[in-house]
Amino acid sequence: MNKKIVILPGDGIGKEVTTEGKKVLEKIAEDFGHSFEFDQAIIGHDAIESTGNALPDETLAKLKNCDAILFGAVGHPKYDNDPTLRVRPEQGLLKMRKELGLYANLRPIKLFDELLEASSIKADVLRGADILFFRELTGDVYFGEKGRKDDGNTAYDIMVYQRYEIERIAHKAFQAARTRRKKVTSVDKANVLESSRLWRETVQEIGKQYPDITLEHQFVDSAAMKLIRAPRSFDVVLTGNLFGDILTDEASQIAGSMGMLASASVGDRVGLYEPIHGSAHDITGKGIANPLASILSVALLLDISFGMKEESETVLKAVSDTLKAGYRTADIADANTSKNKILNTQSMGTQILEKLSMASVSLNK
Ligand code: NAD
Repeated sequence: MNKKIVILPGDGIGKEVTTEGKKVLEKIAEDFGHSFEFDQAIIGHDAIESTGNALPDETLAKLKNCDAILFGAVGHPKYDNDPTLRVRPEQGLLKMRKELGLYANLRPIKLFDELLEASSIKADVLRGADILFFRELTGDVYFGEKGRKDDGNTAYDIMVYQRYEIERIAHKAFQAARTRRKKVTSVDKANVLESSRLWRETVQEIGKQYPDITLEHQFVDSAAMKLIRAPRSFDVVLTGNLFGDILTDEASQIAGSMGMLASASVGDRVGLYEPIHGSAHDITGKGIANPLASILSVALLLDISFGMKEESETVLKAVSDTLKAGYRTADIADANTSKNKILNTQSMGTQILEKLSMASVSLNK
């Protein structure tokens, strides 16, 4: 198969982890006889420094003309420490989602058995947890009207949802539930927010078209508690942009680390694949970032955008085999055992490539 992939490393550890993700794509192309053509583009702080724009037109043109995008992260301490700066890296990310019509963010939360002890949650509570989040990406407080009132001491960000935005992501969540354990938990704050009442009303309406799926509703505060107390009680979670942002970071602890969680953003055209973590200024340049979230994003890309199930499963197996062999980056190391072999970012990528080589030998037997 011939495919065009744009690599969008972004800032901080985005560059470090995406380098390893790209190597995995190259190896899969070689082993399975595909032709992947790569292009690279800038976004975020780097793009602001060189063009004054967080998402330059040239980048956007490349993104609109490819089959899939592998993205790292954006962000830089300069902006985090100075909220008055008007051009900001995350504007590039929000604009990219809007321009590419990426309205659904899928975040699978699944714990590799080998990492049961790496989580701060008890293994008995976690074992078997397998959640698929659908976070809406183009509405909510991120895109509603925002500003300051004249006196400068009052600020507002309006939470806005339109019925069609809720309908299209609800369909995606119900359809995914059909391939899983047939349950959707819709998370909102309908006891106080009008936009949440529209959310709940719309999800109930769409749910009628999926009588084989069990639909339940939870308030976001209660859902946040149940995620940690009873993670196995969730199958598909459907929620808005803000609540999804917070809950999926919380849920990353189920998977052991932010460095283990991949995501896919999809709409009607090209798909964007990225780790859920940010640019992690605290570890940038140290070579210790966990590249597995980027590599797991590659597995999602192969499956969702290219329909390459076998290739995707081969990547997942390589990650699982690498963990089984005791290899860890520092963030997922178990302090209670001496059996872990701690690797840096690049060596972890190399281990995955070695496991892929072993898989390719058995494929060709
Ligand atoms: P972060 O996700 O970058 O880091 C949170 C913590 O997790 C840090 O201690 C970091 O060292 C650790 N961590 C994250 N990824 C890791 C990995 N792969 N391996 C090992 N440890 C990892 O979140 P933050 O610190 O709140 O934000 C840093 C910057 O990233 C900010 O500028 C923020 O705006 C930006 N950000 C960008 C995105 C994105 O581009 N999608 C998402 C979140 C935050």
